[in-house]
Amino acid sequence: MMLARRTVTALPLRTGPACSRSSQRLQFSSTTAARADFTHVVIGGGVVGLAIARQLALRNGAAASSSSSTSTTLLLERHGGVGTETSSRNSEVIHAGIYYGASSLKARLCVRGKQLLYGFCAAHGVGHRRTGKWIVAQTRAQREALERIERLCSGELGVPVRWVGDGEVRRAGEGVRAEEGALESPTTGIVDAHGLMVALQGLFEDAGGVVALNSPVTAITPLGGGGGGGGGGGGGGGDGDASSSSSPSPKGSAGWELAVRDAATGETSTITAETIINAAGLGAADVHNMIVPPERRTRLHYAKGNYFSYAAPLPRVSRLIYPAPEPGAGGLGTHLTLDLGGRMRFGPDVEWVESPDDLAVNGARMADAVAEIQKYLPGVDASCLAPDYAGIRPKLSPGGAVGTGKGFNDFIIRMEDGYAGWVNLLGIESPGLTSSLAIGEEVERLLYGSVTPS
Ligand SMILES: Cc1cc2nc3c(=O)[nH]c(=O)nc-3n(C[C@H](O)[C@H](O)[C@H](O)COP(=O)(O)OP(=O)(O)OC[C@H]3O[C@@H](n4cnc5c(N)ncnc54)[C@H](O)[C@@H]3O)c2cc1C
Repeated sequence: MMLARRTVTALPLRTGPACSRSSQRLQFSSTTAARADFTHVVIGGGVVGLAIARQLALRNGAAASSSSSTSTTLLLERHGGVGTETSSRNSEVIHAGIYYGASSLKARLCVRGKQLLYGFCAAHGVGHRRTGKWIVAQTRAQREALERIERLCSGELGVPVRWVGDGEVRRAGEGVRAEEGALESPTTGIVDAHGLMVALQGLFEDAGGVVALNSPVTAITPLGGGGGGGGGGGGGGGDGDASSSSSPSPKGSAGWELAVRDAATGETSTITAETIINAAGLGAADVHNMIVPPERRTRLHYAKGNYFSYAAPLPRVSRLIYPAPEPGAGGLGTHLTLDLGGRMRFGPDVEWVESPDDLAVNGARMADAVAEIQKYLPGVDASCLAPDYAGIRPKLSPGGAVGTGKGFNDFIIRMEDGYAGWVNLLGIESPGLTSSLAIGEEVERLLYGSVTPS
């Protein structure tokens, strides 16, 4: 059965020979079988997987118009819809990119992603607003943290920030307290994350991409490269090798075979791809571990963030308010965010949990959240706060969220050593939503050495 629709609720058993081999030059040496089912398979239909898939489909489209050969991109999502995990459980903030060391991927991709995202939202009618934000300090130590951010932004990142005078805080601060100063980030904003994903999915499908829902990937086998792959030898745990070649070429150089279960029937299909992209978010370590030998396996740490809604008409604040970041903390502090309707909510805090499915809001943490909020918004009416929703950050270690803290975790986005045609994304926590379009470009650059303009 061929894929008739572009969004399928599950993969049909054994797809037909959906594409001939891509005419495009990959960055690595590949001997992929002439008829891999797909050129690219993206695992994970969150905002990052969608942005990557759409970027690769743009490349497909550009190549198809200049040659007779086609390449195809398939996006596999384990749930019945895209974007139901972390991408719909966050603050929906378009971050300015002010917290991370200048050489980090987070800084580069956030700054680029912000620019792309504002342009994309304007071009495709996705709801967004440049709200600006104030980061507020109540103590000398917090003031120094703001001064470090100001120096980083002005000296190295080139991201605009501005000190807000005390008089301005009093006049225009809408009840916000900033005893030791406030730093404004005028390029921070908010976005309708759901609308963004709907737009990305539509553009991906318009460009010929296929979304397969209810399609969890359960096993992955790199093809080819019997000699030198794996960075630690072969062995168990799915580090199988379906080729008998004794070539020293890396694993995956003859493509990839993926087992995909139909979540409804339990039946498993097998598909082949020239390249795979692991964009599985909270499931990314599991996908990684399906491929590598035991000594290269990894794990994620789960930092839940609880949000609290606010129902009172006052105080009414019209910009985002963040406390100064604490070095080593797992988040940016319980902040005040707005939705596109102007409604205020507070969060997320940081609660380490054992399971990526532990998504119930922990109401017991509300008292601590109120104490944090009252430091910068003393007029908040605690009786009008209510548990709202929670999201989980996929952390590479229980380390800091900002580039000045100990154990800072950067994004991992790389071609895995010892393998060909595998782009691996791990630890895509905040600012992953803001960075998503830039991550799409980054993945295309890793695979092809160039980026297709959108
Ligand atoms: C509390 C919180 C607040 C945040 N606030 C912001 C913010 O304001 N601004 C910002 O820029 N970023 C923010 N982020 C970060 C942002 O939400 C994430 O970086 C982004 O959503 C990650 O997208 P993703 O596509 O990588 O992951 P996900 O949205 O988790 O998508 C991964 C997808 O992969 C699928 N999947 C997993 N395993 C498999 C498998 N084996 N087979 C098939 N599919 C699979 C999952 O079902 C899921 O749909 C926040 C995150 C959290 C937790």
